[in-house]
Amino acid sequence: MTVRSGREFLAIPGPTTVPDEVLQAMQRPALDIYAGPMLQLTETILADLGKLFRTDGRCYIYIANGHGAWEGALTNVLSRGDKILVLESGRFALGWGETAAQLGVEVEVLKGDWRRAVRPAELEERLRRDKAHAIRAVLVAQVDTASGVVNDIEALGRVMKSTGHPALFMVDTVASLGCMPFDMDGWGVDVAMSGSQKGLMTPPGLGFVATNERGREAHRRANLRTPYWDWTFRDGEEHYMKYAGTPPEHLLFALRKAMDMIFAEGFENIFLRHRLLAEAVRRAVGVWSEGQALTFNIAEPGERSDTVTTVLMQGGHDPGALRKYCSRKCGVVLGTGIGELSGKAIRIAHMGHVNAPMVLGTLGVVEVGLQALAIPHGKGGMQAAIEFLGASVQA
Ligand SMILES: *Cc1c(COP(=O)(O)O)cnc(C)c1O
Repeated sequence: MTVRSGREFLAIPGPTTVPDEVLQAMQRPALDIYAGPMLQLTETILADLGKLFRTDGRCYIYIANGHGAWEGALTNVLSRGDKILVLESGRFALGWGETAAQLGVEVEVLKGDWRRAVRPAELEERLRRDKAHAIRAVLVAQVDTASGVVNDIEALGRVMKSTGHPALFMVDTVASLGCMPFDMDGWGVDVAMSGSQKGLMTPPGLGFVATNERGREAHRRANLRTPYWDWTFRDGEEHYMKYAGTPPEHLLFALRKAMDMIFAEGFENIFLRHRLLAEAVRRAVGVWSEGQALTFNIAEPGERSDTVTTVLMQGGHDPGALRKYCSRKCGVVLGTGIGELSGKAIRIAHMGHVNAPMVLGTLGVVEVGLQALAIPHGKGGMQAAIEFLGASVQA
C-alpha cells in the first residue's frame, strides 16, 4: 500500500529540483560554436557569475561537478609541496583538502567539530602562530552539506585581514551560492568555487571558480597547473578557450534560464525565501525533537544553514527506515547522513527551486513516517511550521 504515485519530490541536497522552464530551455538544437549567439551566451553567463559571487574578479566555467571545481581552484593557485590549512566543520572542506593532498599539497586540518561552525578565534590563533607564513591557503565551506552548518565567512575573512597573514582565502559555496548571502569581494575571499546543481537549479555538470587579483597573482607562480583547468589558457582570445574545447551548450542554455529566474526574483527575495522555509523546517524539527529520538545536528541555532537541515537520530532508531518509508510509501526522497553521520542522520534539503508546498509537503511526509514507524516525536511539528509561516509571510 502506498501513496507515492504522482510527482516524486527530491528533498536531497543536490541535485535539486530543476524548474520546468530550465528543463525546457534545453529542448533546442545546438548553436554554432563560433558565432554570435554562443559568444554572447558565454559573455552574459560570465558576467552574471560575477554578480552571483559578488566579485569584480574573473570567473571560469568548467564541465565538471563540485569535485572538479575543487581541483580547478587548487591547481590554479598552488604548487607541489605548498602547505594549506583546511577548516573542519563537516565533510566538504575535508574532501577539498583530500583532493589537495592527492595533488601533492601538504594539508593541515584545523580540527573542528561536526556539530558546530568554525570558530574565527581558532583560525586567528593558528594564523598568528604561523610566523613564517608557511600556510599558502585556507580552505573552508560556507555551508557544509553533511553537517548542515553555515560558517561565518565574513568573520573568517576579517581574521584573514586582521592577522595580516598572506594566505589565500578559498571558499566552497556549492551549497550556498544563490540561496544565502555571499560577498566575495566584500568579505575578502580570494578564490571561490561552486557547482550548477544545488542552489542554481541547473542539472549537474557545470563547475564554477572565481578569483580576484590575489588569486591570479598566485596563479602566475603555481606549478600544479594542468591544461584543462588552466586560467591562463582560458583567458585566451579564442572563444573555445573559455571551455578548453566545445562549450557544454545545453547546460549553458539551462543555466542562462536559471540565472534569468534568479535575477527576476532578486537576491533579497531569494535569501528571504530560503530563510523562511528553512525556519519552517527548524520549527518542525524542534517540536519533533521533544520525543528524544531526533535532534538537530548543529547545536547552535544561529549556525544552522538555510539550505539543508541535518537531523540526528538517536536511541537506536534507524534513519534508513525513515528514508525508505518516505520515498517508497510517500514519494519524498530525503538526504542520507554522510561521512561521520552515515547511518545516523537524515538531511532535509530546502535549497534552490523550493516553495511552501514543497517544504510543507516534505515535513508532512516526515511526520507521517515518524508516526507510521512509531519513532517517538513531539506532536505538532507541521503545525509549528504552519504557524511560523502564517505569522511571517504576511498577507
Ligand atoms: C555537493 C557539494 C560538493 C560536491 O559537489 P559534487 O558536484 O557532488 O562534486 C562540494 N561542496 C559542497 C559544500 C557540496 O554541498
